[in-house]
Amino acid sequence: MSSQPVSTFDQASEDAGEYDFGARVDALRCRSTKSLRTVVADARREQQRWYLEELAATRVLDDRQALDVVPDSTVSARTAKTNREVARSLESLPKIAAAAWDGDLTKDQLQPITEVATSATDAEWAERGRSMAPVDLQRQARAARTVTAADAEARRAARYVTSWRDSEQGMVFGRWALPDVDGILVEKVLDHMAERMRPAKGMPWDSLAHRKADAFVELATNYADVEPTGRFRVEIVQITDHRGESVCEIAGIPVAGETVTALRPNAKVREAVLDRSGTRTTRRPRTDLPTDVDRHVRRRDRHCRVPGCEATRGLQIHHCRPVCDHGDSHDPTELAGVCPPHHHILEPHGPYRLVGDAEDPEGLKLVHRDDCPRDGPAP
Ligand SMILES: [Zn+2]
Repeated sequence: MSSQPVSTFDQASEDAGEYDFGARVDALRCRSTKSLRTVVADARREQQRWYLEELAATRVLDDRQALDVVPDSTVSARTAKTNREVARSLESLPKIAAAAWDGDLTKDQLQPITEVATSATDAEWAERGRSMAPVDLQRQARAARTVTAADAEARRAARYVTSWRDSEQGMVFGRWALPDVDGILVEKVLDHMAERMRPAKGMPWDSLAHRKADAFVELATNYADVEPTGRFRVEIVQITDHRGESVCEIAGIPVAGETVTALRPNAKVREAVLDRSGTRTTRRPRTDLPTDVDRHVRRRDRHCRVPGCEATRGLQIHHCRPVCDHGDSHDPTELAGVCPPHHHILEPHGPYRLVGDAEDPEGLKLVHRDDCPRDGPAP
């Protein structure tokens, strides 16, 4: 066993000039499969030896406190930390280091082994580790780590949720981190809700990311529903300028006319007039749908009216005939309670529409707009 890695590259690296990968591949094409497998094995062993050399040097730099003085942009912080820890452990694990040098332990096996092995179990792990898959070793390493009360406190102290609005993009962005138990609870609830968001009959499943986003909004909607103050009711501000042109915004974010149409029955609307000088006069907000009509529809529709859907929470009132299609009447035959995910697939946001008489419990059908021209007879 030599004490330094020795490069076994043949002619490829001897030639001066720029490295040519394609030429190297061509040169290897005439070799037998067996000899190519030897090349792969040799290359891995060399990498492994150079890795040990890197660790040995890292160990010395670590002692000199010369690591991280200049952050190395070519290596991730996580890799740098792992290497430092492996180098520290390996000093007292000579058998494991020797097994790695001989190619009996790979880099992927070495890292978790150095977490579980002690100088007393060095020889045992050098032997046992070679037959264990990296993923099993990682599991062992995780189990060996003891989480102290201080660790738990640090996890809790690192919790946060932040969100920020981008009115330019019309989106609200967020980022969050939660400690162990809390994070798992949130994850499980979102997964469970997403799993239950089955598509209507004959429709494809939406992506998991979309369904989780809907689940997240549903949680907020449910909270908003049980707060009786009505403070979470969406307020649409309709701004009309001196030329009579109008735009709508919600909390300062401009929204599409279609969004306004969909939200109107459930929202407060505040009208604002912008005069020539840019001065804004705002009127008192009012609800679009008369309270008695709203109450009637909510009492009638105890669950979502999309056929087959039994969702009862967070129902929103949907205008079966969009306002742009002269459907702005407050006729309860044209108003249906629907769950938030289904509200999104209905016109004007989505391609589906509910047709029929909403007053009849069996009276509504879900149809695709392409199968049902608005002016034609109902199917
Ligand atoms: Zn529904």
